[in-house]
Amino acid sequence: MNDCIFCQIVAGEAPASFVHRDELVSAFLDIRPVTPGHILVIPDEHVVHTHDLPEATGERLFAVARRLAQSLRRTDAVRADGVNLFVADGEAAGQEVFHAHLHVIPRYQGDGFVVDASAWRDTQPTREELDEVAGRIAQSSA
Ligand code: 5GP
Ligand code: ZN
Repeated sequence: MNDCIFCQIVAGEAPASFVHRDELVSAFLDIRPVTPGHILVIPDEHVVHTHDLPEATGERLFAVARRLAQSLRRTDAVRADGVNLFVADGEAAGQEVFHAHLHVIPRYQGDGFVVDASAWRDTQPTREELDEVAGRIAQSSA
């Protein structure tokens, strides 16, 4: 048996509470939700990182996440005040399950979930430094 827990969920060999299924992606509730209604959207195919997904699967992943985010805002069951989309690609980014997934995390006023990035407040590179980094990234993605 494939020892990837998300492959087992896709194959029906492990339980999950699904909110969406199609021919490319599946979405189900996270068993350790950050907030009530926390969803994971995953490719049915085993790929480790979202940036390595086939184009169509990557597009579907985001399309389904957007639709589910709208549902979280709208429904009476989970009327979220906001939504965070989150991806951890790679161990250094906090990835724990090495089958690509996109977190859709409903947010509620006063839910206590803090995205803490002191770097956003503290560092301010010069325009020259920003341009130099932007140039390198743009060149390698061209
Ligand atoms: P990561 O840090 O890799 O982005 O997050 C992995 C997520 O998968 C965590 O939020 C964790 O709670 C969730 N998770 C781990 N194992 C299972 C499982 O067996 N079923 C479900 N539904 N979620 C899982
Ligand atoms: Zn897998």
